[in-house]
Amino acid sequence: MRKPLTPSPFAKGTTNRFGRSSLGHGFSASNSNTRVQPPYRPASAPAPAAGAPGGASTIVNMGLNSERSRGMMIQRLRDQGIRDERVLGALMAVPRHLFVDQGLASRAYEDAALPIGYGQTISQPWVVARMISVVSQNRDLGKVLEIGAGCGYQAAVLAQLAGEVHSIERVRGLYELARSHLRSLKLISRVRLSFGDGMKGLPGVAPFDAIVVAAAGMEIPQPLLDQLAPGGRLIAPQGAASMQRLILVERVGAASWHREELDAVRFVPLRAGTQP
Ligand code: SAH
Repeated sequence: MRKPLTPSPFAKGTTNRFGRSSLGHGFSASNSNTRVQPPYRPASAPAPAAGAPGGASTIVNMGLNSERSRGMMIQRLRDQGIRDERVLGALMAVPRHLFVDQGLASRAYEDAALPIGYGQTISQPWVVARMISVVSQNRDLGKVLEIGAGCGYQAAVLAQLAGEVHSIERVRGLYELARSHLRSLKLISRVRLSFGDGMKGLPGVAPFDAIVVAAAGMEIPQPLLDQLAPGGRLIAPQGAASMQRLILVERVGAASWHREELDAVRFVPLRAGTQP
C-alpha cells in the first residue's frame, strides 16, 4: 500500500532528493522529455479560465481513482494523434503514478514530464506513446533495447508489448529506482536492466528489432545503429537543447540506414560514461 499523498515538494519550494525546482542545464520539470508545442486544448471544450473548476490542477485527481485518470490520459493521447491501440493499451496497463515520488503522484496523469531525481525526468506520456508507436508500427516487437531507464516507466510500457526488453541506465541511483519499481510491479523478470553507458548498447544481446533512446545527443551513437536487426527501427531525440527533433532510423541494409526527422522535442542530455 502506498502512503497517503503529500503535497508536492515544489509547491512549498523545499529541497529534497529531487533538488530544487530547476533541473539545471536549462531543463525544467515541465519541458524535459516532452514534445515542443502549444499547450493541449481538447477540440470540443474551451480552455477553462485560470483557477476555474476543470482547470489543469483539478482535472486530475488520480489519488482516488488512478484508473479513471489513466483513461482520461489515454483519451488525450488519442486526441493528440496517437492511434496505435496496442500502445494505448500498454499505457493504460501501467500505473504511472507508482513511478514518481508520492509528492508528485497527483500529477502523474497530466501530459507532462516530471522530475525523478538526479536532474532527470520521467518522459511525457505523449512522448512515450509516440516513440513506441513509431518504432513498433503495429508489429509485434521481439527484442527491444531502451537507453535511459530513468525510473523504469517506459520500460514497463515496452514490457507490455515486446517479447524481451533490455534497458540501460547510467546513473546508479536511477538504475536502482527502476529496479525497485519494476520489482514491485512484478515486471522485473520481463525487463533486463543494466547499469552502464547506453551509448555502447548491448553488443552481446544484439541485434534488436527496436531501440528507443530516452536522452538527446548531438549524434546517434553508431554502436546503436550497428545493433539494429535488418529492418529494425531506432527512435532517438537528437540535437542541441533548443532545437531537438525525434529521429527515426530504419536499418535497410548491412551498412545502410534510412533516416527521417519527426517532431520537435526537448529531452535531457545523453551522456557518456556512468555516474556511480
Ligand atoms: N525512460 C525514462 C526516461 C528517463 S530520462 C522514462 O520512462 O520516463 C532519460 C534517462 O537517460 C536518464 O535517467 C539519464 O540518466 C539516462 N541516460 C542519459 N545518458 C545515458 C547513457 N549514455 N546511458 C544510459 N542512460 C543514459
